[in-house]
Amino acid sequence: MSALSATWIPLAYLVASACFILGMKRLSSPKTAPSGNMLAAVGMFIAIVATLLDQEIVRFEGIVAGAVVGAVIGGITAYRVQMTAMPQMVAAFNGFGGGASALVAGAELIRLDLAGTPPDLVVSIPIVLGTVIGAVTLTGSGIAFAKLQELMSGAPTVYPGQQIVNGLLSLGLIALAVTLVLAPEDLRLFWGLLALAGLLGILLVIPIGGADMPVVISLLNSYSGLAACATGFVINNQGLVICGSLVGASGIILTQIMCRAMNRSLANVLFGAFGAAPTAGVSTSATGTVKAGTPDDAAMILDAARSVIIVPGYGLAVAQAQHAVRELGTLLLERGINVRYAIHPVAGRMPGHMNVLLAEADVPYELLVEMEEINSSFPRTDVALVIGANDVTNPDARDNPSSPIYGMPILEVDRATTVMVCKRSMNTGFAGVDNPLYTLPQTMMLFGDAKDTAEKVLRSAKDL
Ligand code: NDP
Repeated sequence: MSALSATWIPLAYLVASACFILGMKRLSSPKTAPSGNMLAAVGMFIAIVATLLDQEIVRFEGIVAGAVVGAVIGGITAYRVQMTAMPQMVAAFNGFGGGASALVAGAELIRLDLAGTPPDLVVSIPIVLGTVIGAVTLTGSGIAFAKLQELMSGAPTVYPGQQIVNGLLSLGLIALAVTLVLAPEDLRLFWGLLALAGLLGILLVIPIGGADMPVVISLLNSYSGLAACATGFVINNQGLVICGSLVGASGIILTQIMCRAMNRSLANVLFGAFGAAPTAGVSTSATGTVKAGTPDDAAMILDAARSVIIVPGYGLAVAQAQHAVRELGTLLLERGINVRYAIHPVAGRMPGHMNVLLAEADVPYELLVEMEEINSSFPRTDVALVIGANDVTNPDARDNPSSPIYGMPILEVDRATTVMVCKRSMNTGFAGVDNPLYTLPQTMMLFGDAKDTAEKVLRSAKDL
């Protein structure tokens, strides 16, 4: 490396890292998120340019061709992907990231071995870590993608002795990893390690229910960062080390946040096979009858209200009802009604799912209120309009210790004067448990697709 490179390249990585950190900080608010994203992208551009200038690249043709093909595939996919398919898109990104780290770590090992200079401990340890974590991430993310894309059953695949098999395989993997660290010149060990890690990635993810996948994807995201970080040490690239650490840390923090919002431990998500057996009806405090209303009834009740809290959930995303719901909200606001949107941290199927959908429909940020803040308002609210949300409003999670979701924080819609729930049927949500909210005396069900129903209520309200 020339003296100039020795100064400028680390400086470029430092600037890139600062862009990543400041970009991430800006992601914490919807208002600043787009500029944060842009800043992080600029950081990545700087890091890529620095890497291209840093290494002794013999030919650029392959790199340019790869960049063009990758950019076209990435651009088209990002443009076409539905919001509801975002988790599997992230799974694919993680998998490719982990796979790339394993490939780079392996390539470096093979290069050093072929040159007759097997790596010392300082390099062989990160090579092994990058290979193992990268391969687990690649195959684990592949299974997560397949489950969410419905290429395979989303239900947990469980068999007797599963934890013992996984435990034994993990022990075998650790033994092989230690052997390769001590004898990096034996490439057969490397191929064995790669295969075993890939197998373990598959076996660890198949017992996890498809709907728990967002948590797993967040964890695999963290793994992909750790794999990149390890590979950064292999090829002595400070940019990769910093960037990988950021991804690793943020992924694990997000995983924790999601687990806490569902009141589940990470171990329960990973090993609990949640959803393996149907739990519907097992433990509910539901009594009483269900009252169904029409969109005309709903429009009249809303028109007479002074305060309305709209509670969006997964069904809103599936139905793509956000625009119709925003129009309805705007009409009510124009009539002097106090309208707000309640955001549960795990409503939908990924963190921030509802924020993104409502932002896409141009709902003003200040009308979006987080769960902790809005819960005290429900007792003073005339109408809680629940649209495609189920588990996040289930009073059993608060009141019924025998419920499987007991302890999960909820939006306390049952404390509003009137509750209107829009969903297609009496079917359960992600957790597979019945919801006693639907049989409360103050609850009126609006059966139907969320978008269709919201449009009908809007039309009726306009006619009043
Ligand atoms: P739920 O999955 O509990 O319920 C969604 C409801 O939407 C269903 O009961 C369904 O009822 C209804 N629905 C589906 N399609 C439509 C449609 N087209 N029109 C109207 N309604 C529809 O969703 P919530 O948002 O309340 O809760 C999220 C759940 O996901 C929680 O249990 C959470 O723990 C879990 N989870 C969330 C993650 C996250 O990060 N956000 C990650 C992992 C899990 P019907 O079939 O009768 O229409």
